[in-house]
Formats: sequence, structure tokens, C-alpha cells
Amino acid sequence: MSLSTEFERVELPLEDAFTISRSTQEVAENVIVRISDGEGNEGVGGAAPSAHYGETADTVEAVLPDLLAAVEEVDDPHQLERIEGRLTDVVERNAAARCAVSIALHDLVCERLDLSLYQYWGLDPTESIESSYTIGIDTAERMREKTERAVERGYSTLKVKVGTDRDEEILAAVREAAPDATVRVDANEGWTPREAVRKVEMLDGYGVEFVEQPVPAGDPEGLRFVREQSVLPIAADESCVTLEDIPRIADKADIANLKLMKCGGLREAVRMIHAARAHGMEVMLGCMIESNASIAAATHLAPLLDYADLDGSLLLAEDPYAGVPMDGGEIDLEAIDRPGTGVRAE
Ligand SMILES: [Mg+2]
Repeated sequence: MSLSTEFERVELPLEDAFTISRSTQEVAENVIVRISDGEGNEGVGGAAPSAHYGETADTVEAVLPDLLAAVEEVDDPHQLERIEGRLTDVVERNAAARCAVSIALHDLVCERLDLSLYQYWGLDPTESIESSYTIGIDTAERMREKTERAVERGYSTLKVKVGTDRDEEILAAVREAAPDATVRVDANEGWTPREAVRKVEMLDGYGVEFVEQPVPAGDPEGLRFVREQSVLPIAADESCVTLEDIPRIADKADIANLKLMKCGGLREAVRMIHAARAHGMEVMLGCMIESNASIAAATHLAPLLDYADLDGSLLLAEDPYAGVPMDGGEIDLEAIDRPGTGVRAE
């Protein structure tokens, strides 16, 4: 075989500026990876680097030549386990960069086998759960409007960003606009442990389903304290990055929120799902703000999840790639049947 590889940086403007407790973002910079087998098949993947985890589009572009050289050296895309191991040898960190390569390889392998990624894994997409749609931090009035718009577009599960000094005002506004929606909140490390316990009680009054990352990842005992005192389930996101984190957080959170861009690849994500189950945790798969070049792959894992938060592409003004549509948060069962991840250039 003669594998050839290339990558390209893309600027993706967001539909609305996206604010969480610690930052605001107006553009997402992703890096798209393409791997061809010289026999007419091409796999596409994407990196959505996050500065919070030490990556930018620059760092992704800096390490991709070495990662792709390792792929070309093995020269057999079906050797997925071996290649992903080599990628970790090349760069131990840089998870988003490795993830783009992992996704492109899986897309290519499934195209070669004429299988959809879910079929390759033996999964049943009719067991997929609905994805949430995220409402970023804004004025309470703007968040009410965004919530109304999401409900009109058919989303019945919302993830609301909090971690401000007006969290109750925000929840009241969201609940007014979406009285029947399932509402989860994400504080993105925005509270102290004692503050978090008080906030969780308040949130319970608004019928919130669970609370994500109430306290900083650097305070594991604070997370444990919140979980012990909390009336709602607690999800760990910033505290749950790689496989090694699962046993560390198992007694400090109820739900493990994985992201492909944090753990570095599809195979590592599946290992984390099973490790979390073995530790009695529920599993959520989240995402960064990212193109369908990477989100499409994540939708195939939905049958393995308790909670899906795969709206990364839905927050973009436009996406150069189409993937598996999720109108109203429901995975399109026809699109997911295409060979590979279902990604294609628009
Ligand atoms: Mg989160």
C-alpha cells in the first residue's frame, strides 16, 4: 500500500460568541487531516485543540508531520492499535493532534471495508441517545432567547453554562423558556466546593438533571466533598482527561465526561468508556467546538453512552464538512449508514 497524508488549518466562525465561566470564543481553529490509500479511498479527521489542555492550531500543525510520518511508516491503516501506540510514542501529549489522525484512519479503514464506523464496532445506532444542545453564558435575557430558539429547533435536552454570580437568574430565565426540557448545567470549574453545594441545592429547585465540573480539576478533594454533599449527580469533565483519570475520579463523581480531543483517539475513548463502567460510573461523551470532520466519528459511539453532548458543529456559523446530522439532537439514522464516519466535504 502507499498511504499519503495531508493536513489543513481551518478557521470556523461561531454562530454566536460562546462564553463559559473562564473564557469567550468567537472562532474555532481546527486542523483537518486527510489520509488516502492510493486505491481511491480517503479518510478525514479533525483536531479541535483547546488551550485549556495546552494545545492550539499551531501546536497541532507543529506535531502533525511527525505523527503522519509514523502513519506512513506503518503503511497499513488496518494496524490501528499499533499506529495509535506509535502516535503516543511520537508525542505523549497533543491529544487533539493524535485524535485527528485516529479519526482519519478509522474513517479510511471503514471506507475500505465498506462499513459504517458503528458497524465496524458492532453497535446499534437505534440505541443512540439524544444529544444535548449548549446554551453559553450571556445576559439572562439573551440566554432566554437562545433557549427559546433551541426549543423551536427541536432540542429537548439542554446544557446550560453557569459559574457566574447570577446563576439563579440564568436558570430562572432558561426554565421560563424551556419548562419541559431536560436541563443539565456545566460550571466549568467556576465554584468553590462550599459554593457548589449551595448552588446544587438551588439548581435542584429548577429540576436540573446533573451538574458538571463544579470545582477546579486541581481540587480533587473539593470534588469529592461536593459529590458527598450534593443532592444531584456530579459529572467530571476537566477532571477526566485520559484513561488514567477514571480510577482517580471514580469515588469523586457519578458521571465521566469523555472527549475525543482530551483522550487522543477513538480507541482510547472506547477504553475509557469500559473503564468507567467497571468503576460503576455513568458515561457522557462531550466535545469541543469542532467541525463535523471530527464530530461525525463521535456520533457512532452514542449507543455506548448514558449522555451525549455532541453539538460542537451545531454552534458553528458554517462547517466546511457535513457529517451525521443531529436535528433536534437526534442522530440521523440514514446518514450514519454511510461508509466510514459519514463525513464529506460540503
Ligand atoms: Mg464541560
